[in-house]
Amino acid sequence: MLMSAAHAQVSLQDRRPVLKGIETVDDPRRIPRKPAAKKSKITVLRGGRVFDAVSAAARSATVVIEDNHIRAILPASSTDWPTEARVIDVTGETVMPGLIDMHVHLTYPDSDANIDEQGSAVDGAMRGTRNLRWLIESGFTSVRDLNGVGEAPYVLAQWSADNAIPAPRVFTAGHIITGTGGHATERPLTPTHGHDYAIEVNGADAWRGAVRQVFKDGASVIKIASHFAPDEVEAAVDEAHRLGLKVTCDCEGIYTEMAVKAGIDMIEHPLPRTDATITLMAKNHTASVPTLQVYQNVIDRNGGFYGSTSRRFAMTSQDDFDVFKKMKAAGIAMGVGTDTIGDANKMIPNVYIAELKWFVKGGYSLADTLKAATIVNARLLDMDDKIGSLEAGKLADILVVRGNPDQSLDDLQKVDLVIKDGIFYVENGQLVTPRHVAQPLLKPSPPETTK
Ligand SMILES: [Zn+2]
Repeated sequence: MLMSAAHAQVSLQDRRPVLKGIETVDDPRRIPRKPAAKKSKITVLRGGRVFDAVSAAARSATVVIEDNHIRAILPASSTDWPTEARVIDVTGETVMPGLIDMHVHLTYPDSDANIDEQGSAVDGAMRGTRNLRWLIESGFTSVRDLNGVGEAPYVLAQWSADNAIPAPRVFTAGHIITGTGGHATERPLTPTHGHDYAIEVNGADAWRGAVRQVFKDGASVIKIASHFAPDEVEAAVDEAHRLGLKVTCDCEGIYTEMAVKAGIDMIEHPLPRTDATITLMAKNHTASVPTLQVYQNVIDRNGGFYGSTSRRFAMTSQDDFDVFKKMKAAGIAMGVGTDTIGDANKMIPNVYIAELKWFVKGGYSLADTLKAATIVNARLLDMDDKIGSLEAGKLADILVVRGNPDQSLDDLQKVDLVIKDGIFYVENGQLVTPRHVAQPLLKPSPPETTK
């Protein structure tokens, strides 16, 4: 069914009001759950500068963590915590919300290897486990995974949610939805361009069905890519919003215009678009994750030529940056993501810090850049009530660095502590691996004597 212009767009179903005060899973699907028995383990980060991503500037303060939540942010002079608390001295360091990367590919091969190598879901799960370790070691406490192989993205998201592997939270789209021959399926086939990755569907009903399928599989965001027809993108956005999920698009030119008209939530990348589309994005509150640095990597490697059967345009660094500047001037909310294709996973966090520097070059203050990396990203994930800033009641996703990243972004390299879900995954810049604690046998073992 084709929607006419008069047809009201379905706005994102917001479950927060009806679930107020009820514990829910820590992702945008917000499934109610039974409250866990309280253990009340208290940890105090004392003596540091706190950049909370709410105020403009860092201040001397103390962060008190209770179990997996932030219990309080206290004035530096206060000692309002129980005596049994573990107190950690972070004098001279900056305490801030954990970083969020809005565009990763956890399971993609490391480079443009042969499709028969590195392309399987099992390989993707192993590679993703490694990439998640690198990410949490680098201070990331949440990532949004925007296409991957087989069931690997969903499995990684679940293992992370269970804190069964060292990993940031994973908000995954599972698989890109696109029309036959669309982006991520085009020739020449590469390990990331094939049927184990993208879902190719045609017709509005099929697009609606594909959204339901990835929702069923465990997606917490919907990713679509050009090409599509207006009724297909309208059906995808309509269905996703009913399910309470946001939709983002990897698209260019007329497809970006169609997606924005259909009420999509976000556009990835700095791909070509008209000034009229940018104006429409601002009017419709369509956000953007510009991913300038990864395109700079492409340009640095092959001179801007990015030809495929789906993508028929050339890019320059200046074109990409102009799109960014126009979006900023229009007041479009922009999040920070890297798009870890090719060898970009191996460049973590350099590729992310470079992306932040593009924001500064484009007119963001350092504080606003760090807010884009944290609270703005959380908002774009529809998770700003739980993550993205240091405030009482939020989940304890915290990064402590030996330096002042609000004055020099390169200080983000100096990771000391990374806490996710109240768990200290990184201490002294090193991954902490708790020793395996064996479960007891059901009944006592035989005595060590012969009878
Ligand atoms: Zn991507």
